[in-house]
Amino acid sequence: MIQFFNVTKKYDNGTLGLDNISVSIDKGEFVFLVGPSGAGKSTFTRLLIREALPTKGQIMVDGKSIVRMKQREIPHLRRKIGFIFQDFRLLQDRTVYENVAFALEVMGTPVSEVKRRVPSVLELVGIGDKYDCFPEELSGGEQQRVAIARAIVNNPSLLIADEPTGNLDPDTSLEIMKIINNVNKRGTTIVMATHDSDIVNRMRKRVIVLNKGTIVRDDVKGGYNYGL
Ligand code: ADP
Repeated sequence: MIQFFNVTKKYDNGTLGLDNISVSIDKGEFVFLVGPSGAGKSTFTRLLIREALPTKGQIMVDGKSIVRMKQREIPHLRRKIGFIFQDFRLLQDRTVYENVAFALEVMGTPVSEVKRRVPSVLELVGIGDKYDCFPEELSGGEQQRVAIARAIVNNPSLLIADEPTGNLDPDTSLEIMKIINNVNKRGTTIVMATHDSDIVNRMRKRVIVLNKGTIVRDDVKGGYNYGL
């Protein structure tokens, strides 16, 4: 589903964000992206959603070059991708229901469809009873569940998670990982950047280790210890 061919990203100030990386991620895979700060994890995800263009190389998503992709095709690419972040990024002045509904409304989904899909996705992430709450009335773990619901309500083929457990305690982190794992089991490809060594070691998924813009390890059922 995702292929990077000899991808280099050099920023305007000369810093190498990624240095000639090639990697392939199949549909339905679950991949952890680890490595020290500055290793290139964000650069990788930003290239993947066409928030940045590579200096050299080719990136394919679903068999299509996203480097050559025209500006007007970018929304179509992003519709296939859900995002979750460390800081949840919910709309504070909207309820749980409205936060999730908004993701469908911006795509022109009919109201009847919104009314059907939002409760079912909230149920799926285990917060069906919180639909009327505002984000500030929820715990961190509950807020991240809302963020996951919002990210998957459009049935994306890819979910990108940027440190999704970074603000959560270990028990809550595990609950969130169970949900992300379930999303993966339903067929969504997961790319998750993280520093959470416990989670990576427990889950035994593919681990891609970046350092200084290059892939230094790529293990099928890997652990966190990147041994740099
Ligand atoms: P990570 O997400 O693993 O912490 P990044 O992808 O953010 O790593 O950064 C990789 C390298 O690219 C670092 O050296 C960082 O300083 C540099 N970098 C990232 N974004 C920019 C930018 N907008 N301009 C210049 N350098 C950048």
